[in-house]
Amino acid sequence: MFETSITHYLRQHSYARLRLKAVLFDMDGVLFNSMPYHADAWHTVMARHGLHLSREEAYLHEGRTGAATINIVYQRQFGRDADPDTIQSIYAEKSEEFARHPEPERMPGAWELLQQVKAAGITPVLVTGSGQHTLLNRLSHHFPGMFDRTHMVTAFDVKYGKPHPEPYLMGLEKAGVAANEAIVVENAPIGVQAGAAAGIFTIAVNTGPLDGQVLLDAGADLLFPSMQSLCDQWQTLMKECADLFD
Ligand code: CA
Repeated sequence: MFETSITHYLRQHSYARLRLKAVLFDMDGVLFNSMPYHADAWHTVMARHGLHLSREEAYLHEGRTGAATINIVYQRQFGRDADPDTIQSIYAEKSEEFARHPEPERMPGAWELLQQVKAAGITPVLVTGSGQHTLLNRLSHHFPGMFDRTHMVTAFDVKYGKPHPEPYLMGLEKAGVAANEAIVVENAPIGVQAGAAAGIFTIAVNTGPLDGQVLLDAGADLLFPSMQSLCDQWQTLMKECADLFD
């Protein structure tokens, strides 16, 4: 049932096979159920500055840098980019507002999926646009032993950020694998675009309020309704992948 997607991906990129050595995980909305808090924080802080960004629209911009998100709204309302000081203060307020929410919980299914990945000898890699120290620190608390420090790409590493393929290309480099030796797990349209642009088989998990079609249109090779669902079907996916190249 996953064969069609895999063969389509291989044909599209002229790869002979998909040999899985690493899984590149996005963080917010994939490993942690933190997106409702981010969307709320964006909406609240923008409104405080007379800017309109609904919670749902915040999901569409998920994965962009803070500055890019602020400028999209600024351009729409004022026809120009925000000045650097405004960007800095809005982003600082947004981080402060986010921190007022409860601690984000682990996404259901994420820990169990990581266990399966690790047990198969596949390297988990973190690829996030987040630069939140607290959330990054919580990774080791909520996912002990899963992510090696050298296998993380964060806001501090990248120049462009998603939807540019750079973060995922850097993830491949850190894991020492080629594009057809990895899979991306993403929940946001912009993150899916980044994974697809990096030439990596990209799985979308629709953990937010968006229509799943938005993720397929962004270039997702497979779509699952939740991390739990991906976790439940992981073995089947791995088996079909292996069977294809026997
Ligand atoms: Ca995300």
